[in-house]
Amino acid sequence: MVDFVNRSERLFHLDLKGAAPRIEYYKKIFPLVASLGATGLLVEYEDMFPYSEPYTHLQAPYAYTPGQIAELQNLAKQNNLSFIPLIQTLGHFEFVLKHDRHRSLRELDPYPNSLCPTHPEAFPLVSGLIHQMVQMHPTIKHLHIGADEVWHLGKCPRCQDEMMSKPINAVQLWLAWIGTLARWIKENYPNITIIIWDDMIRTASLDLLKESGIGKLVEPMVWQYYARNFNLPEGMFDKFAEVFDTLWVASAFKGATGSTQFMPPLEQHISNQLTWLAVIALHAHKFKRFAGIALTGWQRYDHYAVLCELLPMGIPSLALCLRALTRGSFNVVDHEAVSQALGFQQKINITPFPRPQILEQGMTFPGHKIYLGVQMWSNFIAQYKAITSSEGMVGWFSTYLRSRNFTNPVQVETIMNPLSEVHQNLHELRDHMSVWMAEVFYQDTIEEWIGCFIDPILGKIENLLEECKKHILLGGRVRYYPIRNCVQAQGHE
Ligand SMILES: [Zn+2]
Repeated sequence: MVDFVNRSERLFHLDLKGAAPRIEYYKKIFPLVASLGATGLLVEYEDMFPYSEPYTHLQAPYAYTPGQIAELQNLAKQNNLSFIPLIQTLGHFEFVLKHDRHRSLRELDPYPNSLCPTHPEAFPLVSGLIHQMVQMHPTIKHLHIGADEVWHLGKCPRCQDEMMSKPINAVQLWLAWIGTLARWIKENYPNITIIIWDDMIRTASLDLLKESGIGKLVEPMVWQYYARNFNLPEGMFDKFAEVFDTLWVASAFKGATGSTQFMPPLEQHISNQLTWLAVIALHAHKFKRFAGIALTGWQRYDHYAVLCELLPMGIPSLALCLRALTRGSFNVVDHEAVSQALGFQQKINITPFPRPQILEQGMTFPGHKIYLGVQMWSNFIAQYKAITSSEGMVGWFSTYLRSRNFTNPVQVETIMNPLSEVHQNLHELRDHMSVWMAEVFYQDTIEEWIGCFIDPILGKIENLLEECKKHILLGGRVRYYPIRNCVQAQGHE
């Protein structure tokens, strides 16, 4: 079963809809991921692509320049990595639909997720974006046009009319849109093979798929990120094999276990690869060609979500996952080999939860300071949570007791002292992370990460410390005693 995977592509997915790395970071990690077994890149630019007129407004503040896009492709080439750009064309179109000028193209006005495929301006817009992307990638052989998770598909009045009059169902609406786009791409760029996410047609009937002609237009990439029990319909691969010649699949090395996840649960991600190997062994032979696996690493769950694991947090996971895929199994020898390759003094901790845990040492891989910093951060957060749910806090410093100035300084000190320590540690880490993150990321990512994950906690701790100080100054000298008198007395004030 290893053969299928070793003879095909192993794509390192770069999701750039948040925390996009500087080009300098790619220079460091491309040789590493190539040496670890990656054969190509699947690059989802989202708003990091330098769209030109009339779409310049789609660019993020630190979007790559055309020169950087060329450099990225050169770096890939130097490291023998194939290059597949990914552009969303129906669902997950938030980076376009969030703009007022494109709002009328939403499938449902309140939600920026999905594009309306029957809107007369939809095709000119999407084909315009694709054109710009292909122009800037003159040597690509594949283009991934996404199209997963198209929520609200066929819900707008125009689409409903279209579906009623033909009549067609929502899946056919999806097939018609993808068909139109794919035919246009093939006509204009005949050397490009089109890839799609498969989830919208997982349960489509064989007849529907066949009569749509989709099988000659695109290649499906079946994604599944669970550790073990894959949630794919019975008979799906047999059905796909009757429609499509080629199969791609996608696993995950990070960004798939929680929208606020900060460290990949490595055991789960390794299991995800091993389960894929078993599934590939069962089904890949049914297709004329097994094209490969993309190891996805999601940066956020959608355009609006907070960041999940930063890319450097996922490098050990990516390395372990590639090892499992290329070896066809995962054992202690693999574990040790990858750990050594990344500089870990001991075997990589593949069960990093629950926190706090001992910090790992010796790492040398690019971005390792961030890997260490986030481990420190998660330990401090765990300490903070332990303090705020401690007996001293819950039993002697509750909101009720505090509101009545009825606290025992002995107990308040048991909260304040460790809290001061966490505050100091977190504050120092904040400074370090700003520097460490600047080696990999642009300023907006640093501000976002610190603004989401450090500053709010620092603020909460500072408020609590102020409260503690106030109550220690009170020295247990309260106006009313016992409490029930206190409540009565307040009633008279
Ligand atoms: Zn519509």
